[in-house]
Amino acid sequence: MVSHPKDDEYLNAAIPKRIKMFESIQAEQKTQRLSLSPDPIKVTLPDGTVKDAAKWQTTPFDVAKEISKNLANNALIARVNGVLWDMARPLEQDCELRIYKFEDDEGRDTFWHSSAHILGQSLEMEYGCKLCIGPCTTRGEDFYYDAFYGDLGLNDDHFKQIDAGALKAAAKKQPFERIEVTRDQALEMFSDNKFKVEIINDLDADKTITVYRCGPLVDLCGGPHIPNTSFVKAIACLKASSAYWRGNKDRATLQRVYGISYPDQKSLKEYLLRLEEAKKYDHRILGAKQKLFSRHELSPGSWFFLPHGARVYNKLIDFIRSQYRVRGYQEVISPNLFNMDLWVQSGHAANYKKNMFILEIEKHEFGLKPMNCPGHCLFFRQFLSDWELPLRIADFGVLHRNEASGALSGLTRVRRFQ
Ligand SMILES: [Zn+2]
Repeated sequence: MVSHPKDDEYLNAAIPKRIKMFESIQAEQKTQRLSLSPDPIKVTLPDGTVKDAAKWQTTPFDVAKEISKNLANNALIARVNGVLWDMARPLEQDCELRIYKFEDDEGRDTFWHSSAHILGQSLEMEYGCKLCIGPCTTRGEDFYYDAFYGDLGLNDDHFKQIDAGALKAAAKKQPFERIEVTRDQALEMFSDNKFKVEIINDLDADKTITVYRCGPLVDLCGGPHIPNTSFVKAIACLKASSAYWRGNKDRATLQRVYGISYPDQKSLKEYLLRLEEAKKYDHRILGAKQKLFSRHELSPGSWFFLPHGARVYNKLIDFIRSQYRVRGYQEVISPNLFNMDLWVQSGHAANYKKNMFILEIEKHEFGLKPMNCPGHCLFFRQFLSDWELPLRIADFGVLHRNEASGALSGLTRVRRFQ
């Protein structure tokens, strides 16, 4: 285990300050909520049952308890009138209520999203890093948290310490607590973290800013989250890599730590086993072993297909061609290089130019096509406009995209493809 000197100043000053602010705003909001009249409201369940509840008091968790002990013990998140809602957040009006467990997509998404906060808590407490962006809302098993660590580069040797910190947080059954804050409160709360300050300043003026707390971690997040950290029984780091703040290589270098979590150890073991299995079928390893394709440093991101690889490649093209006929497509062949005027019209010049290969030809700018469609618009207007619609055309056009060399990966992130 590699331990690293913590940024004590950050841990001893910034974090207690945030917690103190969180507690005072939370107390204020609780008093305010209790002063509101608990008028009766109706809660409609998916099977049509209607339950009586009290506005600003009854929570989805209270309703779950009435339905069954099992549901209350396993409920991770609710949907209230179509909006995902914390189990402990009081209901505000007549509503339709659904409750989700880990077996449901909504439950799992929230479970992994919340796990990213648990990972973030460990990273912050173990290293005193400045958390940047992490808990995402897209579907996927693993999750990550980007943070700024100064000079420290994380690697596998740090994982034990990070896992231990995360498991400690999980064991403490820390509730995920929610407050709403003003922009000024948010800015003050995170004044020691310039990354969060930038995020806050970028938020739309009319957006309700929410802050969540679990244990010592006070984090800016729209939520919602699982009720408490104890639902996460197994959590592990998967990998660490560097990333740029806002994906911009001219800005701060961050460390991205990926993790995975489950409600039980067995599922985690199975997942890790599946990862090991998948490694054996990694196309980059198989491709080299079977002499299908290879690369040369003089053309990064553009693969050489060796004779056996070219056979597979052509077989795939044959298959796709046969599907063109089945599905009513006609094949065309179009140029690789177009005058910049086309890319101005298509919007690529404004939005995608840095990812294009640009050449100067007789004092005019040309760009290698990164997509077929703008060329196909010319095709249609110039040559096919009298054809009957709908018109389906297909192209094995060679596309070039100027991907950063660090982003290139096997055959899935390349500079040249068809
Ligand atoms: Zn969150």
